[in-house]
Amino acid sequence: MNRGSLSGVLVLCSLLLAATGCRQRQRPVRKSWLTMGTFASVTVPADDARRLEKALPAVTNRAAAIAADLTVYNPESDVSRLNAAAGEPAFRPVSPHTLRMIEASRRIASLTDGAFDPTVGPLAEMWGFNTGTPPQRLPASERIARVLARIGLQHVAVSNGMARIRAPGVALDFGGIAKGYGVDLCYEELRNAGIENVMVNIGGNLRVGGQPEESRPWRIGVRDPFDNNRLLGTLSLCDGDAVATSGHYERFVTIEGRRYAHIIDPRTGLPVEGMAGVTVVAPTGVEADGLSTALFVLGPDGLSAVLARRPGLCAALVPNARPRALVATPAFLDRFQPAPRMRNRIRRAPRGEARLPAPPAVVPRPVP
Ligand code: ADP
Ligand code: MG
Repeated sequence: MNRGSLSGVLVLCSLLLAATGCRQRQRPVRKSWLTMGTFASVTVPADDARRLEKALPAVTNRAAAIAADLTVYNPESDVSRLNAAAGEPAFRPVSPHTLRMIEASRRIASLTDGAFDPTVGPLAEMWGFNTGTPPQRLPASERIARVLARIGLQHVAVSNGMARIRAPGVALDFGGIAKGYGVDLCYEELRNAGIENVMVNIGGNLRVGGQPEESRPWRIGVRDPFDNNRLLGTLSLCDGDAVATSGHYERFVTIEGRRYAHIIDPRTGLPVEGMAGVTVVAPTGVEADGLSTALFVLGPDGLSAVLARRPGLCAALVPNARPRALVATPAFLDRFQPAPRMRNRIRRAPRGEARLPAPPAVVPRPVP
């Protein structure tokens, strides 16, 4: 989650735009607030405005509760307390949210051979992503290797609803899946309140139910990672679909004049440089969010390998290279309407070997 997670702060702004004439269709209703360090919103057709009004407090409370447990920016949060006890022998009681995040992380890590790893926190710290103050010089390879020894889910154990971090200095940070998880729980809350047609958004992680109007699906724009004001195209979404995007524009640090994006390759300890953006559609927000982070690390060859393991995978990557291209799985292309300028720039991801390609070699750097 972002620094200064604003859990609990509610800035509810109603965007209720009433229709002017009885023949004119009423615009959807959107309620927005701040949670998990970012903007969140729920959109429903105008007919459901009253229901949304009633359900909203439970929805915002749900998101705030998740943020309160999972944020690493509050030393009193459930995850921070587990991190602070790293290396102690006893298992500790942890919140159900923390347990679910550990379980979900293991699933996504095993699907992506560890490209998704919620223990990259110490690396993120070394690179200055959490503090906002990056080192003046690139860390030496010896230093990276020392931090890498503290990375990996093998250091985290769960037993009878309790958890334990085996080695000191290992730390969990669920920033790569927490927002997707928040979307899932808010979505459930809204469906349980009888709201069928809905779009939930937490910081660009989406989940939709039903459709905004009869015979029209929810459609969203996929932003061009090189140009915020332009779209690569639009995606049509089905009932229950979740979407997540990871982009190099989201957060980055500059070291020795070069920009590094906030997603780290847990195999090398280095920030990922070859990718500009990844979008994933999945049956849950957690999976979409986790896979978008993991595929950002793995790149096009990794996409083909994950596709071999999961043939229905719905994902697209934009490599950080010219000429600009979109590499997408067949399931993604079935739902995607490219912008005209992108039509000749789309590559269908081949189904690869299930074995993931080796990570890039680390170029040794001298100790400064
Ligand atoms: P955002 O949070 O900007 O929407 P992501 O969902 O892709 O983007 O998550 C990025 C966050 O995930 C980082 O800020 C960091 O906390 C965490 N992270 C970075 N690298 C990894 C990784 N390889 N596996 C899991 N989490 C990661
Ligand atoms: Mg993610």
